[in-house]
Amino acid sequence: MKVAIIGAGLAGLSCAHALENLKIDFNIFEKNLKHNYLEYSICTLKLQNLFRKDLIKHVKKSMDLKLKPLNELHTIEMYSQNSSFQICGNLGYIFPRGRFHKNTLEQQIICQLKTPIDYNSYMEMDHIKDEYDYIVVATGTSKIPKKYNLWTNTFSAYTRIGKVVGNCRTDLIKMWFDKDFCKNGFVYLIPNNDKECFVMLIVDNISHEELDFYWKKFLDAIPLNGILVSTFDLYQNTGFMSDLIHENMIFIGNSSGFCDNFLGFGTMAAIHSGYAAAQHIGNNLDYKEEMEPQMKYIKNMNYYRKAIDNMDNKDLDLLISTLDKPLLKRLIYKNPFFHMDTMAPLLKKFSKK
Ligand SMILES: Cc1cc2nc3c(=O)[nH]c(=O)nc-3n(C[C@H](O)[C@H](O)[C@H](O)COP(=O)(O)OP(=O)(O)OC[C@H]3O[C@@H](n4cnc5c(N)ncnc54)[C@H](O)[C@@H]3O)c2cc1C
Repeated sequence: MKVAIIGAGLAGLSCAHALENLKIDFNIFEKNLKHNYLEYSICTLKLQNLFRKDLIKHVKKSMDLKLKPLNELHTIEMYSQNSSFQICGNLGYIFPRGRFHKNTLEQQIICQLKTPIDYNSYMEMDHIKDEYDYIVVATGTSKIPKKYNLWTNTFSAYTRIGKVVGNCRTDLIKMWFDKDFCKNGFVYLIPNNDKECFVMLIVDNISHEELDFYWKKFLDAIPLNGILVSTFDLYQNTGFMSDLIHENMIFIGNSSGFCDNFLGFGTMAAIHSGYAAAQHIGNNLDYKEEMEPQMKYIKNMNYYRKAIDNMDNKDLDLLISTLDKPLLKRLIYKNPFFHMDTMAPLLKKFSKK
């Protein structure tokens, strides 16, 4: 059997690791160089985890994948123009990302692989489609799904990521929702270590040129607690997939639409879908059935997206101050049955406004 994986991001690497455990040979192609300059941090939230299990223990037990975070996430602070909200507890994990140093999520998985990655190899589907029995599409973009008419776009945004040097708490993330400087997107501040953090501004429906304008507005409104040493920009989009398997292609990670369009979180789904695709190839597991709860979650998160799109700054103040109510906090964070998408039915009302 001949298997190719296009893309050595989180989804492609997780699939590669699972295929190795199943003793299935494969080729894995990555368009970028081995040492990629992109560097940032991400968090995984317990509330997002459809398994309601500890992510680290879950991937170790079920996928034999060892992951070590930068830190546990203990505090989230959220701000709107005139309200704020803080939640503390065992909320999830923070991980460094990229291929810059050995502690990043990608590099941790690469260290557990034996198969070499074919770096600097941009793969076009047409060049390899007939050569392989299975092609796992893990490109992190909608380009291939769009080519096969499988994609419906739901959110597009430019993101500017700035590295800030200054004292930094390694267990805290901060988020801002403010229509003036991020439209329907948001800003978040996340640590890289105790001396550095990343600030990410996500603004939807703008051109790349307009990002400078929103970045300046943000910096004028929220002065950074440190020195901004570098920035880079990314374009991201999320969407729904009509089919996860098409001909000999299996779509995983962001290119299968498994990134929610409310916060743009897709780390856990990338790892899970990579593992499930390998089980489909090697163990006859039904990939589509396995990923059905994830598909449902992504569709439910779309109600959050639509609700936020319909809010103005006053609505955001009300939302943030409501989230700060102790009873609601207990209901959300101490309730083992509560997932991020549990509130979706309530939000349908706002999303139709
Ligand atoms: C700035 C930022 C912040 C984020 N924050 C969070 C967060 O806090 N929490 C969270 O859960 N998620 C977050 N995410 C989303 C999360 O990172 C993604 O959902 C996850 O990385 C998806 O993994 P993937 O493997 O599908 O795609 P990627 O990680 O994007 O990997 C795709 C890979 O494919 C390669 N590639 C593309 N095309 C080709 C080709 N034709 N040939 C060969 N190689 C190709 C790319 O170079 C890349 O290495 C964030 C994303 C970004 C960009």
